[in-house]
Amino acid sequence: MLYAEVVGHEALGAKLRESVRSGRVAHAQLFEGQEGAGALALARAHAQYLTCEQPTEADSCGRCTSCKAHAKMQHPDLHWCFPFFKADGQEKATSEPHQGTWREAMLEGPYLGVEDWLDRLGADRKQLFISVDEALEVNRKLGLKAFHGGWKVWICWLPETMRVDTANKFLKLMEEPTDRTVMLFVTQHPDRLLATIRSRVQRIHVPNLRPEEAAQGLVQRWGVDADMAASLAHVSDGNLAQALRMAKAGQDQPDLERFSAWMRSCWARDGRAMVEGSESFASLGREGQKRFLHYALHLVRQSIVGHYGAKELVRLTPAESAFLAKFSKFIHHDNVMALREALEEAHSDVAGNVNGKLVFVDLSLRVHRLLRLPASVD
Ligand SMILES: [Zn+2]
Repeated sequence: MLYAEVVGHEALGAKLRESVRSGRVAHAQLFEGQEGAGALALARAHAQYLTCEQPTEADSCGRCTSCKAHAKMQHPDLHWCFPFFKADGQEKATSEPHQGTWREAMLEGPYLGVEDWLDRLGADRKQLFISVDEALEVNRKLGLKAFHGGWKVWICWLPETMRVDTANKFLKLMEEPTDRTVMLFVTQHPDRLLATIRSRVQRIHVPNLRPEEAAQGLVQRWGVDADMAASLAHVSDGNLAQALRMAKAGQDQPDLERFSAWMRSCWARDGRAMVEGSESFASLGREGQKRFLHYALHLVRQSIVGHYGAKELVRLTPAESAFLAKFSKFIHHDNVMALREALEEAHSDVAGNVNGKLVFVDLSLRVHRLLRLPASVD
């Protein structure tokens, strides 16, 4: 991955490159950033730059043997570690059976969330972790001579999923580093790491992307239409992993269409439409349901912002604006808080694995009562 492919974080990238050029590479580094901020993207760009044969000040060359191998996710001196579950019939719990899936995920891009990874592994309710066996395997790999005679890089995604016994094994590796080896940890929850690990790494804070930066990335890197990109970046608050999930999950029926049909059935208390809606909602799957509820919250929020004439705060596509011009009449100061609460509760129910149909029917009835609530005059 080239630095040019990382969304935002130009100054941080320059700092990382400078550390390589000046030969001040810490052998254990911790990239800390929330989902979708790009910590994994930066770690990958850093790894490629370390092993590039002809790096410039601005980036890896993109043409040497090492860069080509990185682009295909086949670099022999780049090792990966990530949370997984023990495959059935597997004697040792190592990541080996999942490395292919990981490679596919990384070829699609580094803006990966835990839910995306769970989906890919088909491990919906299984507990993912990094095992002691895996730590021993990493130890063995890092002890080998570098294939290309340069740096060996090991990237560990989500070290916070390690249990203490595993973390202690890695700690030993960090205390006795093998020559020309760099360990890059990429975490979303530095607070959940052992303090002894935190104290032995160089910490690199990767801030969240501003929605404008994320939107620009969506347009330039993924070819998303500018209006859609602005809306996705705003709803996801700059979290690119979430924005990309939303872009993917919304392909069958546009969210706006689903939302407006749903609001009509709630207003009318149309039982049949609600049941159909609940089935359609359930078919979205947990991730799609959360995305849709996020979107609903966004529209409800935007309809009240419009009331106060704060037009510059309204971030909507033209179709959404046309819809809200009519819909916002039903949203007022007496029901907006309760509507938001209802949507947020539904969101946490879905996240907690409550049946989607039940959540949807219950929510629809609440929304019906709230939409029918007249605004008090004062
Ligand atoms: Zn290169």
